Amino acid sequence: MKFLRYKLLFLLLFVSIIQQAQDYTYDKKIGAESAVQVEQMIGIYQDSALTAYVNAIGQRLVNVLIDTPLEFRFFVVDMAEPNAFALPGGYIYVSRGLLSLVNDEAELACVIGHEMIHVTKRHAVKQMRKSILPGLLYIPGAVVGVFNSSLGSIINAPVSLGSELFLSNYSRKQESESDKLGIRLASQAGYNPEKLAIILTSLSEDTKRLTGEAEKRSYFSSHPFTPKRVEKIEKEIPKLQWSEKSSFADDKMSLYTKLAGMVYGQNPKQGIFEENVFKHPELNLAIPFPEEWNTINVPVAVGAKQPDGEAQLIFMIDNSGGEPDSLGKALTERLQKEYKMKPDQSKSLEINGFPAYVVSMTDATGQQPVEMQIYWLKTENILFSIMGMSYLKHSEAIANTVNSVRSLTDEEKQNISGLYLQVATANEQETMETLSIRTNNSWDTEVTVFKNGLESNAVLKEGQVLKIAVEKPYFHH
Ligand SMILES: [Zn+2]
Repeated sequence: MKFLRYKLLFLLLFVSIIQQAQDYTYDKKIGAESAVQVEQMIGIYQDSALTAYVNAIGQRLVNVLIDTPLEFRFFVVDMAEPNAFALPGGYIYVSRGLLSLVNDEAELACVIGHEMIHVTKRHAVKQMRKSILPGLLYIPGAVVGVFNSSLGSIINAPVSLGSELFLSNYSRKQESESDKLGIRLASQAGYNPEKLAIILTSLSEDTKRLTGEAEKRSYFSSHPFTPKRVEKIEKEIPKLQWSEKSSFADDKMSLYTKLAGMVYGQNPKQGIFEENVFKHPELNLAIPFPEEWNTINVPVAVGAKQPDGEAQLIFMIDNSGGEPDSLGKALTERLQKEYKMKPDQSKSLEINGFPAYVVSMTDATGQQPVEMQIYWLKTENILFSIMGMSYLKHSEAIANTVNSVRSLTDEEKQNISGLYLQVATANEQETMETLSIRTNNSWDTEVTVFKNGLESNAVLKEGQVLKIAVEKPYFHH
């Protein structure tokens, strides 16, 4: 017992020495692994000019961090909700939703500075070590293990779809430290530190519009926000000595021009939800998920969950290159040979002209029987592995959804559209309403005023520059 305690003491000393030496080996490894998850579960927004702009701001802050062993990388994530987050080792992400709120480059610099401090102070690593270990699986039933070994990625997907895996929740203390040192970093790089309070207030206002899953994906789900936070930041400002340097985008015109063309809201390129019908223009596919279910769309999967968690249905892109028949038969054979399990059904199907295969079985070992329905479905463009899991009363809803997968109609294709940011300049005597009509602005007056950081009764001046959102069809012929 005593010996063990000495050993533990030695270990603690060792750990603290490592931390003092700022060895980030562990951080870099965890960060690189999680960065892959971000790509698969959120997606990187492909816009090289916009990414280069965010990166340029980030690198200006990196230059202030003399002698850091970390290699910082900056990305725009393809996420409609306003968010910014960091991974250990130096991966910094800002979302499209956050960029749509920015009215001054310094706001973005302050947010990025804040995230960089989470990395240099290893906040996420400290949190992750606490939170990653306890049981991740909430899927019921003993049969899960069997499917897990046969179909690993399918079963694991719903578990990590919540994205809690890599978005750590910071403590209030860590949050204050990041605010304080983040604005110091930004100000040393020549950015106005007062802008952090402004972007935090915009984020808070914007988050109020969100509900449910969208709210969980937004900034304050990982960064605790209290009214005191802004107060505390404002107290730090007078302590800073700094002088303003010119920005990459020095005025609204150049800033909004950099943001122009960015998708706002759902990105039609990744498929969109209209009510609960998923429509993907590139894959030419519609999936009508059950009404009232909570839907999710990520780069590698699309799915829905019954609100009480009694059922979930996930469509995953399957790159195995196989055919539904052979994949389904192979699973059935494995279940029988290796696990002595006989599926309730194992048969070929045709779903609206697409070849498919279904294997289903019921696990009665839990409190309530759970049915698993595994499908492979090959459309003209893609092979899906589909995993449905539910209490029996929802089995039919799952089967109905899969059996309703179909191609888009011509009319549906024409109607798929997206919103894109644009720059508008006010004419003489123009009001927000007349400007919106002239420019086809899809945002209503309240949202336009908010997104531009204006007062609600603001009067437009001739030549005033605004950012607006314009709807464009996805397919323009
Ligand atoms: Zn934070």
